Amino acid sequence: MIRDLYKKGKVVYSFETFPPKKDDDFPQIFEVVDRLAELGPDFISVTFGAGGSNSKKNLEVASYINSKGIESLAHLTSVGLQKEALDEYCEKLAAEGVQNILALRGDRPKTMTDEQYDSRSFHYANEMIEYLKSTTSFCFGAACYPDKHFEAPSMHEDLIHMRNKARSGADFFITQLFFDNDKFYALQDQADLMGIEAPISAGIMPITSAKQLGTSISLSGTSIPKAFSDMVARYGDNPEDMRKAGIEYAINQIKNLIAHGCDGIHLYTMNHPELGAQILGAVR
Ligand code: FAD
Repeated sequence: MIRDLYKKGKVVYSFETFPPKKDDDFPQIFEVVDRLAELGPDFISVTFGAGGSNSKKNLEVASYINSKGIESLAHLTSVGLQKEALDEYCEKLAAEGVQNILALRGDRPKTMTDEQYDSRSFHYANEMIEYLKSTTSFCFGAACYPDKHFEAPSMHEDLIHMRNKARSGADFFITQLFFDNDKFYALQDQADLMGIEAPISAGIMPITSAKQLGTSISLSGTSIPKAFSDMVARYGDNPEDMRKAGIEYAINQIKNLIAHGCDGIHLYTMNHPELGAQILGAVR
């Protein structure tokens, strides 16, 4: 289980993948997993559509990751699943040998009515973790936010909710992507002070184009430090230089995190194994 990987005293490396939109694209994602597996990560995660629409694909990719002898982490969002659907899905995951779940609330899908949203079984991630902890034997990861979750009124309030997830049974955390390591160190210090002992993997996304930066920021609400905006101002118009600079930035972030004793690095390389190879090659 993933919680045991953090006990080995080494940095835990992981990659995030996402399932294909179309069934025809499965061979490509399997090839991505094959190539990521060759890099020897400790685990590979696979995302889940907030409304639960791609659950079958999430299951299929998680199962394929396991078949490569790598621990899989299946993301699971509660927002679109009532308790019975969640039970059913967890049974399927267990039947495929998946042992680890990243338990998330997810964001409200645009198609969801107020009535559906208000009557969901679990309002927050910690409620789902508490429930599944008592009904299943999975290892649970949860999300945390160096830049604060966009709905939380303050960092302190967000940390209280992070602590609730730990108390409900989260075995480890993975952060939202961030570009300012000081924010991660502040989160770690605050988590320590609040008695959160679960390890925290730092979520790092190499930004390889100015366009990708815009999408990532609007989706995650992550802040941009000056060094990063200076880099985009300098290289943004030149795709090749921007790519090199973005990868270099991620490598430097990771080297600094490792030097500070970070528990793990979760790479948001999003189905681009060549990026993973380049980054791991430079930091290992
Ligand atoms: P929660 O922990 O429930 O928190 C949501 C908000 O509610 C926070 O502001 C928190 O402070 C607040 N809160 C918590 N408890 C309470 C309470 N009792 N009272 C009041 N406020 C409370 N999304 C997907 O759709 N699919 C994915 O696969 C996916 N993978 C992700 C992987 C990682 C590593 C991360 C960091 C995020 C991922 N997301 C994914 C996005 C995630 O679903 C969103 O960030 C979502 O808005 C919050 O999910 P959560 O589990 O952190 O929610």
